[in-house]
Amino acid sequence: MATPVSKSRVQSLITEYGVFSQLWPQFEQTDGERQLVSLEVELIGSHASDRNHLDPACPACRHVRSVLLAIADAMPGETSFHRNYLTYNIDSHSNSILCLPALGNRSAVSVSIYVFWNRSNGQSFETDPLSDIKAFLNGWGIHQR
Ligand SMILES: [Zn+2]
Repeated sequence: MATPVSKSRVQSLITEYGVFSQLWPQFEQTDGERQLVSLEVELIGSHASDRNHLDPACPACRHVRSVLLAIADAMPGETSFHRNYLTYNIDSHSNSILCLPALGNRSAVSVSIYVFWNRSNGQSFETDPLSDIKAFLNGWGIHQR
Protein backbone atom coordinates (compact mmCIF):
# COMPACT_ATOMS: atom_id res chain seq x y z
CA MET A 1 0.00 0.00 0.00
CA ALA A 2 1.24 3.46 -0.87
CA THR A 3 0.19 5.13 2.38
CA PRO A 4 -0.01 3.29 5.67
CA VAL A 5 -3.45 3.47 7.24
CA SER A 6 -3.74 3.95 10.99
CA LYS A 7 -5.15 1.07 12.99
CA SER A 8 -8.04 3.11 14.39
CA ARG A 9 -9.00 4.20 10.86
CA VAL A 10 -8.89 0.59 9.67
CA GLN A 11 -10.99 -0.48 12.67
CA SER A 12 -13.72 2.00 11.86
CA LEU A 13 -13.70 0.79 8.25
CA ILE A 14 -13.97 -2.82 9.47
CA THR A 15 -17.28 -1.84 11.04
CA GLU A 16 -18.39 0.17 8.03
CA TYR A 17 -17.61 -2.64 5.59
CA GLY A 18 -18.95 -5.42 7.83
CA VAL A 19 -15.64 -7.25 7.61
CA PHE A 20 -15.70 -10.83 8.86
CA SER A 21 -13.41 -13.80 8.57
CA GLN A 22 -13.65 -17.46 7.74
CA LEU A 23 -10.95 -19.85 8.89
CA TRP A 24 -10.13 -22.95 6.88
CA PRO A 25 -7.71 -25.08 8.90
CA GLN A 26 -6.11 -28.09 7.27
CA PHE A 27 -5.04 -31.05 9.35
CA GLU A 28 -2.78 -33.99 8.71
CA GLN A 29 -2.64 -37.28 10.51
CA THR A 30 0.92 -38.05 11.65
CA ASP A 31 1.74 -40.98 13.94
CA GLY A 32 -1.87 -41.20 15.00
CA GLU A 33 -1.82 -37.57 15.97
CA ARG A 34 -3.82 -34.90 14.25
CA GLN A 35 -1.71 -31.88 13.43
CA LEU A 36 -2.61 -28.54 12.00
CA VAL A 37 -0.45 -27.97 8.90
CA SER A 38 -1.95 -24.94 7.24
CA LEU A 39 -4.65 -22.38 7.60
CA GLU A 40 -6.44 -20.13 5.19
CA VAL A 41 -7.76 -16.96 6.75
CA GLU A 42 -10.34 -15.45 4.47
CA LEU A 43 -11.23 -11.82 5.12
CA ILE A 44 -14.48 -10.67 3.54
CA GLY A 45 -16.04 -7.23 3.36
CA SER A 46 -18.46 -5.20 1.30
CA HIS A 47 -19.52 -1.60 0.95
CA ALA A 48 -23.04 -0.44 1.64
CA SER A 49 -23.96 1.23 -1.63
CA ASP A 50 -25.16 -0.88 -4.54
CA ARG A 51 -25.03 -4.17 -2.68
CA ASN A 52 -25.78 -6.43 -5.60
CA HIS A 53 -23.46 -5.14 -8.28
CA LEU A 54 -20.87 -7.36 -9.93
CA ASP A 55 -18.22 -5.01 -11.20
CA PRO A 56 -14.62 -5.98 -10.45
CA ALA A 57 -13.50 -2.47 -11.42
CA CYS A 58 -15.72 -0.80 -8.80
CA PRO A 59 -13.61 1.81 -6.93
CA ALA A 60 -15.50 1.28 -3.67
CA CYS A 61 -14.78 -2.45 -3.82
CA ARG A 62 -11.16 -1.64 -4.44
CA HIS A 63 -11.13 0.43 -1.27
CA VAL A 64 -12.69 -2.41 0.72
CA ARG A 65 -9.94 -4.66 -0.63
CA SER A 66 -7.23 -2.21 0.44
CA VAL A 67 -8.61 -2.31 3.99
CA LEU A 68 -8.56 -6.13 3.95
CA LEU A 69 -4.96 -6.02 2.71
CA ALA A 70 -3.99 -3.62 5.51
CA ILE A 71 -5.31 -6.18 8.01
CA ALA A 72 -3.42 -8.98 6.23
CA ASP A 73 -0.23 -6.93 6.30
CA ALA A 74 -0.55 -6.33 10.04
CA MET A 75 -0.91 -10.01 10.86
CA PRO A 76 2.75 -11.12 10.98
CA GLY A 77 3.71 -8.23 13.26
CA GLU A 78 0.90 -8.88 15.72
CA THR A 79 1.09 -12.64 16.00
CA SER A 80 3.90 -15.05 16.83
CA PHE A 81 4.54 -15.83 13.14
CA HIS A 82 8.23 -15.07 13.23
CA ARG A 83 8.95 -16.91 16.43
CA ASN A 84 7.17 -19.95 15.07
CA TYR A 85 8.80 -19.89 11.64
CA LEU A 86 5.56 -19.66 9.80
CA THR A 87 5.37 -18.58 6.20
CA TYR A 88 2.42 -16.86 4.71
CA ASN A 89 1.12 -15.70 1.34
CA ILE A 90 -1.54 -13.15 0.62
CA ASP A 91 -3.88 -13.56 -2.31
CA SER A 92 -5.89 -10.41 -2.91
CA HIS A 93 -8.21 -12.01 -5.53
CA SER A 94 -7.92 -8.62 -7.19
CA ASN A 95 -10.07 -9.33 -10.24
CA SER A 96 -12.95 -11.09 -8.60
CA ILE A 97 -16.07 -10.28 -6.65
CA LEU A 98 -17.84 -12.74 -4.40
CA CYS A 99 -21.56 -13.25 -4.39
CA LEU A 100 -22.76 -14.31 -0.94
CA PRO A 101 -26.05 -16.22 -0.94
CA ALA A 102 -26.02 -16.20 2.89
CA LEU A 103 -26.14 -12.41 2.77
CA GLY A 104 -28.90 -12.09 0.20
CA ASN A 105 -26.49 -12.44 -2.74
CA ARG A 106 -24.65 -9.37 -1.61
CA SER A 107 -21.48 -8.75 -3.56
CA ALA A 108 -18.30 -8.65 -1.55
CA VAL A 109 -14.56 -8.75 -1.94
CA SER A 110 -12.17 -11.07 -0.17
CA VAL A 111 -8.51 -11.42 0.64
CA SER A 112 -7.02 -14.77 1.61
CA ILE A 113 -4.03 -15.28 3.85
CA TYR A 114 -2.48 -18.72 3.56
CA VAL A 115 -0.43 -19.68 6.58
CA PHE A 116 1.86 -22.71 6.52
CA TRP A 117 4.12 -24.20 9.12
CA ASN A 118 6.15 -27.29 9.66
CA ARG A 119 6.38 -29.23 12.87
CA SER A 120 8.66 -31.94 11.52
CA ASN A 121 11.65 -30.50 13.37
CA GLY A 122 9.92 -31.28 16.65
CA GLN A 123 9.62 -27.64 17.44
CA SER A 124 6.94 -26.79 19.93
CA PHE A 125 4.88 -23.65 19.92
CA GLU A 126 4.54 -21.21 22.77
CA THR A 127 1.07 -20.48 21.51
CA ASP A 128 -1.31 -22.52 19.47
CA PRO A 129 -1.23 -20.84 16.02
CA LEU A 130 -4.97 -21.14 15.56
CA SER A 131 -5.80 -19.38 18.82
CA ASP A 132 -3.04 -16.89 18.12
CA ILE A 133 -4.68 -15.89 14.84
CA LYS A 134 -8.16 -15.88 16.40
CA ALA A 135 -6.87 -13.52 19.09
CA PHE A 136 -5.44 -11.27 16.39
CA LEU A 137 -8.80 -11.14 14.57
CA ASN A 138 -10.68 -10.47 17.80
CA GLY A 139 -8.25 -7.67 18.60
CA TRP A 140 -9.24 -5.96 15.36
CA GLY A 141 -12.93 -6.53 16.02
CA ILE A 142 -13.33 -9.00 13.16
CA HIS A 143 -15.84 -11.72 13.92
CA GLN A 144 -15.82 -15.18 12.44
CA ARG A 145 -18.55 -16.87 10.50
ZN1 LIG B 1 -18.28 -2.25 -5.30
